[in-house]
Amino acid sequence: MSYYEFGTCPYNPDHRIMLFRMPGHIVKCQKNYRGPPLQICKYNATHRVLDMEEHLKECTYYRNFIDSQAMQIALTMRKAPILDDGSDTNTEL
Ligand SMILES: [Zn+2]
Ligand SMILES: [Zn+2]
Repeated sequence: MSYYEFGTCPYNPDHRIMLFRMPGHIVKCQKNYRGPPLQICKYNATHRVLDMEEHLKECTYYRNFIDSQAMQIALTMRKAPILDDGSDTNTEL
């Protein structure tokens, strides 16, 4: 019976936390944490890692962000075609 997805606490891999509780747990766990400082992922605040560059290679939130950026760019690049103003419909004789 698993209604919830579990994630691993970045501060203690022994902690298996329901994802929806992760933000609150992290705040608590951070206070007791004595290891090297972890960097907070810009794309998901519950991602705390030592090596952000390595993390971004596998961060699905980052990938989604990049994808949506690429989508945005694609959409803005697709300018409306220049409409022929139909000047040859001028029927002046
Ligand atoms: Zn924890
Ligand atoms: Zn991340």
